Amino acid sequence: MNLPVPGLATVLVGEDPASQSYVRAKHRACDETGIKSYAINYSEDISQKKLEGAISDLAHEPEIHGILVQLPLPKGLDEERILNTIPLEKDVDGFHPINIGRLAQKGRQPLFTPCTPSGIIYLLKKYTNTLEGKRAVILGRSNIVGMPVSLLLLRENATITICHSRTKDLPLITKEADILIAAIGRPKMVKGSWIKPGAVVIDVGVNRVEDSSKKSGYRLVGDVDFEEALEVASAITPVPGGVGPLTIAMLMKNTLIAAERADK
Ligand code: NDP
Repeated sequence: MNLPVPGLATVLVGEDPASQSYVRAKHRACDETGIKSYAINYSEDISQKKLEGAISDLAHEPEIHGILVQLPLPKGLDEERILNTIPLEKDVDGFHPINIGRLAQKGRQPLFTPCTPSGIIYLLKKYTNTLEGKRAVILGRSNIVGMPVSLLLLRENATITICHSRTKDLPLITKEADILIAAIGRPKMVKGSWIKPGAVVIDVGVNRVEDSSKKSGYRLVGDVDFEEALEVASAITPVPGGVGPLTIAMLMKNTLIAAERADK
């Protein structure tokens, strides 16, 4: 089979340093895997109309198989309308409202599922026998991580509890989890005493904390107190180096799938 070179366009609006570094990592991964990447950057004062027009133009480029709009977008832009302009078959980030809607419905199949949640499920399936019947507690209900990972776990027949900033008695709930997923963006909030002995812990959080011993002046930590969790959990993902690289791997996979489908 003579597959065309898969092409991924990233659309970055504004100059948020974390978003810039995520996009750079995605381009590096494209270089390593033979995917051609296109970096499209706009200043944060771009209008809604111009951004939607730019994405529609990308949608018509045959050599671009995947379009990724780096989220979150600056305030003032309507994220849902922008994601809606990505054609379903190029929605390699899986955030198109129709793909998310299908993910939430029984018997429907999204063309793509979001990368961080897909990476988490990949990892869990690799390291646990089955997710069926497992009690999974998800901390966070965001569109990007908490909600889609909950929907994917439900599809795997896990029993899910979704927690958020108004949830009461969090440690009591997390203590019941066979699988605990932390995606809240709060450095080291989840303590060892919150974790059921033997649980599998997925730490999605990426938080900058001051560290004067580093040249940058900061280091990255997760939402889980890693050292404490190590004493209790049967497995835990590190930050950095756990969920982050898997997210990028899933993006590469989705881009390859998009190119294969376009070639059929
Ligand atoms: P959001 O800020 O969009 O969502 C955070 C969620 O956590 C919300 O649902 C919020 O509740 C909940 N929350 C916040 N504080 C608390 C609290 N004290 N107790 C319980 N729940 C709380 O974040 P994201 O989902 O986008 O990201 C979460 C973390 O994951 C961040 O650190 C982010 O950097 C990281 N991340 C990592 C990725 C990777 O590839 N490794 C990819 C994407 C994100 P409420 O809804 O009530 O406000």
